[in-house]
Amino acid sequence: MLGRPESSQQTTARDTRYDILFEPVKIGPLTARNRFYQVPHCNGMGYRDPTALAHMRGVKAEGGWAVVCTEQVEFHYTSEITPFIELRLWDDRDIPSLARMADKIHEHGSLAGIELAYNGMNGANLYSREVPMGPAHLPVASFTYDPVQARRMDLQDIRNIRKWHLDAVLRAKRAGFDLIYVYAAHALGFLHHFLSRRFNERTDEYGGSLENRIRLMREITEETKAAIGDTCAVPIRISIDELLGEGGLYKEEVEDMIGLMADLPDLWDVTLAGWENDSRTSRFAEEGAQEPFIRGVKRLTAKPVVGVGRYTSADRMVSLVKKGIVDLVGAARPSIADPFLPRKIQEGRFDDIRECIGCNICVSGDFTQSPIRCTQNPTMGEEWRKGWHPETVKPRRTDKPVLIVGAGPAGLEAAQTLGKRGYDVTIAEAGTELGGRVLQESRLPGLAAWVRVADYRKMQLAQLPNVEIFFDSRLDAGNVLEFGFPRVVIATGARWRGDGIGHRHLAAIPIAEGACVLTPSDVMAGRRPAGKRVIVWDDDHYYMGGVIAELFAEQGYETLYLTPASEASTWTRNTMEQHFIQKRMLEKGITIQSFRSVDVIERNEVVTSCVFTGREERIAADAVVLVTARLPNEQLALDLLARRDEWADAGIEDVVSIGDALAPATIAHAVYAGRRYAEELDADPLPDGVLPFRREIAELLPLD
Ligand code: ADP
Ligand code: SF4
Repeated sequence: MLGRPESSQQTTARDTRYDILFEPVKIGPLTARNRFYQVPHCNGMGYRDPTALAHMRGVKAEGGWAVVCTEQVEFHYTSEITPFIELRLWDDRDIPSLARMADKIHEHGSLAGIELAYNGMNGANLYSREVPMGPAHLPVASFTYDPVQARRMDLQDIRNIRKWHLDAVLRAKRAGFDLIYVYAAHALGFLHHFLSRRFNERTDEYGGSLENRIRLMREITEETKAAIGDTCAVPIRISIDELLGEGGLYKEEVEDMIGLMADLPDLWDVTLAGWENDSRTSRFAEEGAQEPFIRGVKRLTAKPVVGVGRYTSADRMVSLVKKGIVDLVGAARPSIADPFLPRKIQEGRFDDIRECIGCNICVSGDFTQSPIRCTQNPTMGEEWRKGWHPETVKPRRTDKPVLIVGAGPAGLEAAQTLGKRGYDVTIAEAGTELGGRVLQESRLPGLAAWVRVADYRKMQLAQLPNVEIFFDSRLDAGNVLEFGFPRVVIATGARWRGDGIGHRHLAAIPIAEGACVLTPSDVMAGRRPAGKRVIVWDDDHYYMGGVIAELFAEQGYETLYLTPASEASTWTRNTMEQHFIQKRMLEKGITIQSFRSVDVIERNEVVTSCVFTGREERIAADAVVLVTARLPNEQLALDLLARRDEWADAGIEDVVSIGDALAPATIAHAVYAGRRYAEELDADPLPDGVLPFRREIAELLPLD
C-alpha cells in the first residue's frame, strides 16, 4: 500500500447540524464563504520569512477558513516593535511580500485580511530610533521595561498618523487584501491607548469624554471606508474589557463606544483585554472564556461580529451562532493546531480534528522571535521551509517496515505519519496505554487538556491497519535484534534526574543518606513524603516546578518554592502564563522565594544560598522535590550501538533515537522529532540542497 493523504481517508456525509457554520456571511461589500474566521495572529516569521508565512496562511485557506488574516502589520517606520518580528507596510517596497500572502490565501477562495498596526507607546523603536508617540507623555509599555518614553502627540502628529494609515490602506488594497483592519485592541496600539483613560489623559478633543476618546478611531474608520470601502471591508478590532474595573476600559463603557459607531465598520472583531488574557492557556481558561464578555455586542450593531474562545468543538460553535453571540467563529490557536478544522467539520471527520491543547507554545515563537511552532501540529511554520503539509504526506519509497520503541508523543507522531505514508509500523510500548509523558502530565493540576496530544494520535492510529501496537512490551537490545526490523526508532523518553544537576548546578549536589528527595517522575508515579513540609526547587523554569508546587499545596502540604530566577516558572513569560502562575501559586498559599539556590540536602534540612551574595540559610524540610533536568532513557540505544556488529545479520539497517530519548525538551519538540523522522525517511536529502530547510536571504543593495 502506498501513501494515503489524510484528507481522502474518509468521506463521511456532512452532518446537517453543522450546516449553519457553512452559511455565507456578508462583510461589507464582500461575502465570506462560511463562518470560520482566522483572526490576526503573530507567528515570529513576519518580514524575515515572508514566503514561509505566505504558505502558512495559504494552508489555512486550503483548510477552509473563509477569512485568513495577517498578524500585526506595522504601517509606518515611526512605530515598530523590534525585537518582535511582525510584518511591515512602511512603503511600496513591502507590497510584494504581502501580495504573495494575499495571493496564497486567494488561491483557495478565501478572503485575505490585514491588521494595520501602529504600536505607538508599545514599542521603543529600537530599530528606527524614532521617538515613540502616544496620547500622553508616558514610559514605553514594553515587556522589558525599556528606558524610553513616548512623547505626547500634538494635533499635527495626529493628522500625520491619519495620513500614514490611509497611505497604508491604499497599499494594502494594492497588495490584494480584502479586509483592512482598524486595530484598536489588546492595549497594543495607539487607537486602544486613545480609547482608555489609563493612557489618555488629554484635555483636547481627543481626550475626556467617550466621544472624544473614540474620535481618532472614528476618523480613521471613516477615512479608510471612504478610500476603499466600495471594494474592501473595514473591520474594527476592539477590546471589550481591560479587566481592570473602572480603572481601565470596562464592558459597559466599550459597549457604549460600539453603540456610538455601531454600523460604521463592516465588522466588529471583539477581543478581551490584552493578548495574555485573550489567549489564556488551558491551565487558566476554559474554551469560550470570552463568551460572557462578547455576549450582547450583537445587540448594538447590524454588522457581523466575530470573537474567539479557543473553540474546537463544532457543537459549541453552532450554539454560539444560534444564540446570536457571534456571526463568525474566530480562531487563532485552533487554526494553528488544525488548519483543516473547517473542512473536517464540513466532511464530518471529527476523529481527525487535532484539537488545540491551549499550551501557547505557538505564542513562544513570537516571544522568542523564532518561527511559530505548535505542539499539536508539527507542520506549522514548516509548510514552505520543509514542504510539510498538515494533511498530506508523501508516499513511502520502500517497503521496509519500521519498529518504534515507545509510544509517547514522539513515537506516536512518527507512527501515525509513517503509517499514512504507507509503511508497515510496529509500536512496542512498555506500558499499557499510548501517550507516554502526556498521559502522566495531563493528570497534574491544570494540564488535563494536554491529553489531546495522545487522543488525536490514537484516533489516527485506529484508522491505520498497517500500524500494529504491542503493550506490556519493554524491549531490550536482544529483543530488537531478534525482531530484526530494518528500521528501528528509539522513542523511549526521559526521566527526571535526582542529583540536582540543572541550569545552576552542573555537578551533583551533596544529598545526605536518608534525606527524602523526590523528582517529578516520582511525584507523578504517586510517591509522597511522610512529613508535611515540602520544598520544591525549580531549576527547570518551565511549567513543571510550579505545577508540582500546586499539587503539593492542594494536597495540604506546607509548600515552599525556591528558584534561582527572579520569579516562578520564568520561561512561561514566553507562553504569557508567568503572571497567572505566580498569582495562582500565591493564592494557594505557596511561599515563593526568588534568587535562591539549593546547594546541599540534609536529613530534614536544606542548605540554600542567595544567588548574588552566597549568604547561606538553613531551612527545615521533610522532603525536597528536585525539578531540575532530565536524563534520556538511552540504555536501549547504547546497548544496540554496543552490538552494532550484529545488526547486519539481524537485518537492521539503522537505529535512530528521537524526542526525549535523544535530548529532553518540550512535548512540541518530541512531536516535531517524530514527524521529522517520518517525513525524512527515504526522502530526498536537503530541500534547499544545503540545509534541511529553506530560508530566504535578504537581497543585497549595491554598495553605494
Ligand atoms: P517522548 O516525549 O520522547 O515521546 P515519552 O517519555 O513521552 O517520550 O514516552 C516514552 C515512552 O516509551 C513511554 O510510554 C515508555 O513507557 C516507553 N518506553 C520506555 N522504554 C521502553 C522500552 N525499552 N521498550 C518499550 N517502551 C519503552
Ligand atoms: Fe494550541 Fe499549543 Fe498548538 Fe498553540 S501550540 S495552537 S496552544 S496546541
